[in-house]
Amino acid sequence: MSAASAAPAVLPELDDLRLQLTSANALERLRLVAERFPGKAVFSTSFGLEDQIISHLIFAHELPIKVFTLDTGRNFQETYSTWNKTLLKYEQRIEVYFPRQESVQELLLAKGPNSFYESVDNRKECCYIRKVEPLNRALAGQQAWVTGIRAEQSQNRQTMDPVEWDAAHKLTKIHPLFDWTWEQAVAYAQGNSIPVNPLHQQGFVSIGCAPCTRAIKPGEDFRAGRWWWEDLSAKECGLHSTAHHDGPDPVVEPVP
Ligand code: SF4
Repeated sequence: MSAASAAPAVLPELDDLRLQLTSANALERLRLVAERFPGKAVFSTSFGLEDQIISHLIFAHELPIKVFTLDTGRNFQETYSTWNKTLLKYEQRIEVYFPRQESVQELLLAKGPNSFYESVDNRKECCYIRKVEPLNRALAGQQAWVTGIRAEQSQNRQTMDPVEWDAAHKLTKIHPLFDWTWEQAVAYAQGNSIPVNPLHQQGFVSIGCAPCTRAIKPGEDFRAGRWWWEDLSAKECGLHSTAHHDGPDPVVEPVP
């Protein structure tokens, strides 16, 4: 759904913000978000390359944007190590949202720990319990959601804007790295000594839960590393329904 059809009431405001964001650099974009949505802007990190750059900009410049992560309980150890290194380097707070204990217990009791391999419905059920519901809690009452989405991640996003209206969560979604290339992100992280998830060096481009993410080979679709046992059409977890999972992606090389 387009921003225009999802939220015509806020379109003029978004148009104004879109113009400002488009001509700004990533730090200026985050400053604009903090000024425009005081105390109501949050950033969700999964500790991948793009997210680490945004965390760096927020923490190094002490921007009033709350950083949070979703701990699904099934993350890679490398992701927890990157999380820990980020805490040690910046000494800043990263909020964490965990799945509801009762929901996980009921799921595991009924279907076991790996039900997501058995059907798309089971996989979406697990994603809902471990990601979507905690995300809904994290975004409740907020006005702006900063993400690490880049246009290059999906062919359908080649003309994406730095801002959009998220009708599902009823807030403005901002993508400060929307026009960055992968090479740019790698160089920026290296030049600024930003902690990088070591999985990127092993061919992981998009890092999610350990049982559902694998490395991709050069030339493989970006989504080939996620839920590889499913059809392409089923591949979404519900976090960014029109962003990460809506088309084939360009070749992405591992971090050197
Ligand atoms: Fe569950 Fe896999 Fe979704 Fe993680 S990515 S929430 S383990 S189905």
